Amino acid sequence: MISQLKTHLQELKECRNCPEMIGPVVTHTAVMSKVYLLGQAPGPHEGKFGKPFAWTAGKTLFRWFSTIGIDEESFRNLAYMAAVCRCFPGKASSGGDRVPTPAEIKTCASWIEREFQLLKPKLVIPVGKLAIEQCFESAPLVDRVGQQFTIELYGNKCDVIPLPHPSGASTWFKRDPGKSLLVEALSLLTKHPEWQRMLINSQLIRNNQRLDLT
Ligand code: SF4
Repeated sequence: MISQLKTHLQELKECRNCPEMIGPVVTHTAVMSKVYLLGQAPGPHEGKFGKPFAWTAGKTLFRWFSTIGIDEESFRNLAYMAAVCRCFPGKASSGGDRVPTPAEIKTCASWIEREFQLLKPKLVIPVGKLAIEQCFESAPLVDRVGQQFTIELYGNKCDVIPLPHPSGASTWFKRDPGKSLLVEALSLLTKHPEWQRMLINSQLIRNNQRLDLT
């Protein structure tokens, strides 16, 4: 299966299906994990680092995760990191990053679908409104963050624990109710068996012992 995931990533890196998107395609490495993090789209900096959440939002995201036992390096080694769109959409005329179009989202979803076939994730963590909307009917963040859902996604039954987007420009998670709902969501992650398995495996990494990622 890992060879299929490596082939998938190679094909994904070569994707040029969206003419308005700015490359390079940003992918994660071939981690066979049951934990699937779904971000929104890379920003202008991720391409040069060649990995998702490599800039300021990532610092906040990994700070959240470190409060519940997993540092950045361990998370990148143990979870699979994806995004609704894998290329930087460019800037909007308003100054922020352009929101991908429905057509771009649909086109890029074929890569997510393939990853679900290969990985069959048990815990999905959508980060931000655009990612959460790929899992559920549109709903306010207050109705999604702070709860755990069991749904079928791309033909795969999985638990979903949504998180807000950790962008520095967002105030949603800095004041209530978002602040309390974020704490609740992180607490749900710590109780999930797949998160607990990551905790055990991160300890094994530190002790140079054998991992169990399947
Ligand atoms: S956004 Fe996705 S589908 Fe579009 S070019 Fe990038 S990788 Fe391909």
